[in-house]
Amino acid sequence: MGLIINLNGKFVRKEKAVVSVFDHGLLYGDGVFEGIRSYNGRVFKLDEHIERLYTSAKAITMTVPVSKEKMKAEIIATIRRNKLKDSYIRVVVTRGAGDLGLNPLKCPKAFYFIIAASITLYPEKFYKEGLAVICASTRRNIPEAVNPMIKSLNYLNNILAKLEANNAEVLEAIMLNREGYVAECTGDNIFIIKNGELITPPTYIGALEGITRDAVIKLARELGYKTSEKPFTMVDMYIADECFLTGTAAEVIPVINIDTRHIGNGKPGPITRKLIEAYREMTGTQGTEIYAS
Ligand code: PMP
Repeated sequence: MGLIINLNGKFVRKEKAVVSVFDHGLLYGDGVFEGIRSYNGRVFKLDEHIERLYTSAKAITMTVPVSKEKMKAEIIATIRRNKLKDSYIRVVVTRGAGDLGLNPLKCPKAFYFIIAASITLYPEKFYKEGLAVICASTRRNIPEAVNPMIKSLNYLNNILAKLEANNAEVLEAIMLNREGYVAECTGDNIFIIKNGELITPPTYIGALEGITRDAVIKLARELGYKTSEKPFTMVDMYIADECFLTGTAAEVIPVINIDTRHIGNGKPGPITRKLIEAYREMTGTQGTEIYAS
């Protein structure tokens, strides 16, 4: 069966799921989105994703055309319609169709669509052996311009860094902020571990408030590790004992090499491995039931 897409509240086949060429999401990247996952028939952290979606929309003064409750129901219905248990769900809300000018006032109604598809993960090998990454020369958007805390459709900044990763034949790139502090990766948050303490950049540096990031901070505290949010530089990364990335798609994934330098002993560290296990336990047991009623 082909994918069925939720196009503004209507189910249509993938081939028929098209948007207007006058949509400001397409013309200007004017819109917001979420990437959500379901595991074994449960949507993980659905409320958190909905909150962030509506907060991002508010930040760009865009009214999501349906209520939060309705959006949740539409997401669940879309997964059901595609008969999925383990899925990656993309929710996109655009400013809607307007004219060719920039003015959002010319877009009378925001537009949304939901794609529920099977997931493409990093191969399991990388969770066991770790990833190599680089530090990109492209800096993260400055918060005074397009704030990275807004999950907007403007991902060109991240794409430019991803191109650098491609050129270096690695799968992710670390992005610094304007001052040279580590911000995040192109699609993931970043953590280092030094002397048993987990450290991640504060979001004011220029990073998304990742839902996986928050979940991992809580898990780490429950496991008795000290965690802090403080600025750090590439030197702190090179001398870290361990390093890992977090994201809805990536989950918790170890980094063992940065800019061709080994991190720690060049193997995933014990705390990272413990967190991978704890996070998997959590995704396997928590979430909103898709097929409950
Ligand atoms: N940073 C960026 C730039 C992202 O796009 C994402 C999500 N793909 C993340 C971090 C991780 O956020 P989350 O854990 O909420 O998926």
